[in-house]
Amino acid sequence: MPDTPVNGSQVLVLNCGSSSLKFALINSRNGDASLSGLGDALGQSAPSVSWKIAGEKHNATLSEGAKHTEVIEFVVTNILSGQGSLLKQIAAIGHRVVHGGEKFSHSVRINDQVISAIQDCVALAPLHNPAHLQGIEAATKAFPGVPQVAVFDTAFHQTMPRHAYIYALPYTLYEEHGIRRYGMHGTSHRFVSERAALLLGKPTDDVNIISAHLGNGASIAAIQAGKSVDTSMGLTPLEGLVMGTRCGDIDPGILLHLGVRLDYCMKEINDLLNKKSGLLGISQLSNDCRALEQAATEGHQGAQLALEIFCYRLAKYIASYHGVLSQVDALVFTGGIGENSAFIRENVLNRLSGLGYQVCESSNLGMRFGAEGAIESSSSQAPTPKVLVIPTNEEWVIARDAAEIIGKDGSPASAQPQGGT
Ligand code: AMP
Repeated sequence: MPDTPVNGSQVLVLNCGSSSLKFALINSRNGDASLSGLGDALGQSAPSVSWKIAGEKHNATLSEGAKHTEVIEFVVTNILSGQGSLLKQIAAIGHRVVHGGEKFSHSVRINDQVISAIQDCVALAPLHNPAHLQGIEAATKAFPGVPQVAVFDTAFHQTMPRHAYIYALPYTLYEEHGIRRYGMHGTSHRFVSERAALLLGKPTDDVNIISAHLGNGASIAAIQAGKSVDTSMGLTPLEGLVMGTRCGDIDPGILLHLGVRLDYCMKEINDLLNKKSGLLGISQLSNDCRALEQAATEGHQGAQLALEIFCYRLAKYIASYHGVLSQVDALVFTGGIGENSAFIRENVLNRLSGLGYQVCESSNLGMRFGAEGAIESSSSQAPTPKVLVIPTNEEWVIARDAAEIIGKDGSPASAQPQGGT
């Protein structure tokens, strides 16, 4: 755990998307959020901001076309200023940044060099990185002098060995264009693997974990001695598991078929793979796991098939990561589906009985709405892996990293970008 002050620092955590901005004021020591909120529909005709403070929910509309700057100004002027000391307590601002390419294997304090490195990674995350840069610029104006830290989704996976991240494509595509597997959800995989180590009573660098982050976006990571050695997302978040609207792994020949035989243009292919596939595409009903579970119990065949494929593909990845890791201490479920869906967890674990997994039905059913703990059957014999449900908390990781970095500012090991591609 980072070395933070006894009472923790208050860190304003910002997660800027292309048309949204999530914000939260987090205590770096315990992860408590004294404020959380969302600016939505930014740049559009009716942007809005909603927030929760002291247990009460509020919302407001912003002027037409308002963007990240206006949301941050609103947070400062209309929310934090009214709370007296809250504004003064902000020790740092932590930004979630989706893509750090090969330049960042750790979180870093933001300076001009870091901004330009994030800019260099725009080609790898064209929707996200520009929005993060807007957020950094807006926060710099609104909080002059307050240190800012960038926490990268890709950083945790920078420990993957070359054989896990190089595609079987001409090597020059990697050398000249950085085309390789980077992985995402690193902040979540890191959080739950550290938490799992704590629950197992072992040091983080002494545990082997398979971490399944299952939300609308989904990825799985093989973590050896606390370090990511493989993960299912690749150059982009499209690769890997079946997701809400993304296809995950497919035969790349399908792209050629769509383009050459069926005359799809690039935009149509992009929309098809990212927005119309996955659970939504198979079921032709919804991308929402809860809705599909309900429909499946009512006999909807598309929903049943979508859930079967989701579980089958996930089970295949888990089994393959048993081959990647010499020994597995725990399988962790996290993300909206992983944390809440007893149905998905049971279906997946039943497929893995050959690896010794057994699910305890009552523990599994009870594990939702933020509960944390084990769900394996008490009758299962050691040394089968424990099965843990751990609610993720990416905001807390961002707050912890920010507090640690400002505490250690000037430490080149953790505060400087790594060598580039
Ligand atoms: P996330 O992207 O992490 O917010 O997760 C969103 C996904 O979690 C959606 O597919 C939701 O349907 C799913 N989810 C949330 N709660 C439940 C639940 N109780 N049962 C099944 N799926 C759930």
